[in-house]
Amino acid sequence: MPMHAIIGHLADTPQTLSIAGQVLQHVGRYRQSVPWAKEAGGQLFGTVNTAKICVTDASGPYPGDERTRFRYRSNPAAAQRAIEDRHKRGLLYLGEWHTHAENYPVVSGLDDDAMRRLIASSQLNSNALLMMIVGRARTSQGLAVWSVSREAASPWTLCANPEGA
Ligand SMILES: [Zn+2]
Repeated sequence: MPMHAIIGHLADTPQTLSIAGQVLQHVGRYRQSVPWAKEAGGQLFGTVNTAKICVTDASGPYPGDERTRFRYRSNPAAAQRAIEDRHKRGLLYLGEWHTHAENYPVVSGLDDDAMRRLIASSQLNSNALLMMIVGRARTSQGLAVWSVSREAASPWTLCANPEGA
C-alpha cells in the first residue's frame, strides 16, 4: 500500500474521494498477508463537502470484535465509542473498513448484507456510507471502496495520488 493518498472518482458524480496516507498506513497494518491471518476492520472518519469526501482517520480493530478468516464485525460498543470520540474532534463517521484474504478484494454477499443493515439502522443524515475493503496487494488495486445507500452500491475508481494530498 502506498503511504501517499489515494484519490477516487464515482460515475455520474462530481464529488471526489480522498483517502489520507495515514489511513492507508493504519489499515495496511492489518493486511491479511499470512494464511492464518483473520479479518480486521473498523470505522472511517473525516469531512465531507459537495466537492470532496476526505477520509482522514480510521479506527479499529477492537477487543471483543468477531474475527474469523472470512468475517469481521466490530464490537458495537467499541465502535460507538470511537464514533463519539471522533465526533468531539469534529470528524464525521463516514463508513466501515475491513480486510479480505485475497489480493484484489471483491465484495461478498455477506458484506453487502452487512452494509444494507447498517444503512437501514443508521440515524445519519447522509444516505450513503463508505465500505472500504483492504486486500493483500500493496497498490491501489489492492483496495476497494464502495458507496452504499438503501438503493444501490457503487464502486469508486481509485488511483494513487503522487501529490500525496
Ligand atoms: Zn468482506
